Parts: sequence; C-alpha cells; structure tokens
Amino acid sequence: MKSSLTLGKKHWQEMLDHILRNLPLEACGLLAGNNDRVEKVLLVRNQAQSPARFVMDPYEQLQAFEWIDSSGLELLGIFHSHPAGPETASVTDIAEAAYEVVHLIWSRNGNDWRARGFWIMKGRAADVTLQIVD
Ligand SMILES: [Zn+2]
Repeated sequence: MKSSLTLGKKHWQEMLDHILRNLPLEACGLLAGNNDRVEKVLLVRNQAQSPARFVMDPYEQLQAFEWIDSSGLELLGIFHSHPAGPETASVTDIAEAAYEVVHLIWSRNGNDWRARGFWIMKGRAADVTLQIVD
C-alpha cells in the first residue's frame, strides 16, 4: 500500500487535457514511473464510451503495459474521470479495482477539476496524498 504519489505539473496537465477532450465521457489512462514518482502518462481510450463508466481498451492497455515494461518503469497508477461525480471512488471502482496501484479519480466542481488518490483494497478505498512538483 502506498500513502503518496508524486507527479509533475506536466503530467497533471496531460491528464486534464485528455479528460477535457473526452467530455462528456469518462476518460482513463495509466501512470508509470519508479519509486512512487510518475515519469510518464499513458492515455488509453475508454472502450465503454460512457459518461458514467470506463473500460480500458484492451489493445491500448496491452500496448501501454508493454511500453512500461520495455522502458524499465512500473505501473504506479490508473486514472479516470468522473464528469458527473462523485469525487471519491465509486462502488463500481472499488468492486473492479484489479491492480494494486494508486487510483486517481478526477472530478469537477463547475469547470474546476481536481484529482484525488486512493488505494483500493479489500473493498475499501484509503486516501493517497498526491504531491505535485515542477
Ligand atoms: Zn470511477
């Protein structure tokens, strides 16, 4: 279990751009890095094409996993957006969490987006602190 994850402002913006481009649908992707520090954001298509649910496109997800392996990085996180809320992990997110990684969930208040980190295990979501650095 991790209690914090460090991301660059650049990574933050890459996720947000992807989320805005996909509105009103949920958007998703992967975060790769080492030692709890994100080095790369990998954007993945939401195969569900839904405003309330995401399913990573299996082919793009596999390609992303292969890229992460070949780059000597680890999968640190999975991010997705909740264009219509909630700001926490949903019942579905908790039920479907398949990887022991940080789950970043983006939600909005009007046009202001925020992200929160969660560690999901055994049917519970614990907060993970997100540290944003230059
Ligand atoms: Zn969700």
